[in-house]
Amino acid sequence: ECPGRLLELKGNIRVLCRLRPAKGTPSSLVSVEPGQGGTITTCYRGRQRRFRLDWVFPPDASQEEVFRELEPAVLSCLRGYSVCIFTYGQTGTGKTYSMEGPPEDPGIAPRALQTLFREMGTGGQHRVTLSMLEIYNEAVRDLLAPGPPERLVVRQGPAGQGGIQVAGLTHWDVPNLETLHQMLSLGRRNRATAATVMNQHSSRSHALVTLTLHVTSPPCTRDTTGTLHLVDLAGSERVWKAGVASISQGDPNGTRRLREAQAINRSLLALGGVMAALRARRSHIPFRDSQLTRLLQPALGPGTTAVLLLQISTRPEDLGETVCSLKFAERVG
Ligand code: ADP
Ligand code: MG
Repeated sequence: ECPGRLLELKGNIRVLCRLRPAKGTPSSLVSVEPGQGGTITTCYRGRQRRFRLDWVFPPDASQEEVFRELEPAVLSCLRGYSVCIFTYGQTGTGKTYSMEGPPEDPGIAPRALQTLFREMGTGGQHRVTLSMLEIYNEAVRDLLAPGPPERLVVRQGPAGQGGIQVAGLTHWDVPNLETLHQMLSLGRRNRATAATVMNQHSSRSHALVTLTLHVTSPPCTRDTTGTLHLVDLAGSERVWKAGVASISQGDPNGTRRLREAQAINRSLLALGGVMAALRARRSHIPFRDSQLTRLLQPALGPGTTAVLLLQISTRPEDLGETVCSLKFAERVG
């Protein structure tokens, strides 16, 4: 048997939190308890609350520090584990910054891929496949499809194989790191193209990168297949009110905004529900409540590891959303 360091992780769901750097003096309304590693105190509407997390990255934490915490999970994919890393939070708190990062200061995804290819280069045989999709208003779209984007159908895979299939989703063989980076930027461009058409689309959709690693290598002489899912979630802010308000003001985009709000609320709620059910080891896990959780069912089941990177703002005006995000984390972690 190969060593399973991740089995040490409590409940297989870890919740990390990263504070977005802000200008000016740090707000005392959101504070990290010194020396505690993972406690945040908020003061909202005169009420103080403490939230325990597995780890908190202060605003000055570097991309490298964030990745260092995730590296063991990423490497476990080479031993056949399934790992899912999410960035969760209000729009503008740094989800994409953490996941992708600017070219001069790469985030989790490029660092993870580089680490995996470096490790695979040291022996054994491997085959890597990549798929990339987004979920917008519960519609699933292939970000690497050669043709025009089509709505894909998610369905239960053949009996016995347990998995979920996305009919028509392309899976690409990736021979080396350079090709992988090229494909990821292609996928990102495809997401960005839609963003200009539908204002702010990218913060209203979930982006899901899946890397499958087939490895035959010592010391594990048998073949293993590991999976790494990297999920940049839609903004968690409660946009419902904004949608309703824009309809009542006769905004022609109001109906669309409301539909977006419903879809996001539903899928993030479903994700929270699934994680909370897994944590409580309930017999029924409500995977079917949204496309996001249906798609991630194989990635969140028994024997898998999930890391939720909660991104929060320390700005006083964001406090309501910050507390909501921390409550979400408390429920799942
Ligand atoms: P989100 O994806 O959650 O909407 P972004 O990742 O787009 O948020 O971040 C919003 C802005 O804040 C971007 O300009 C980004 O570069 C900046 N930003 C976020 N986190 C950091 C950080 N840790 N250090 C420096 N800039 C950051
Ligand atoms: Mg983003």
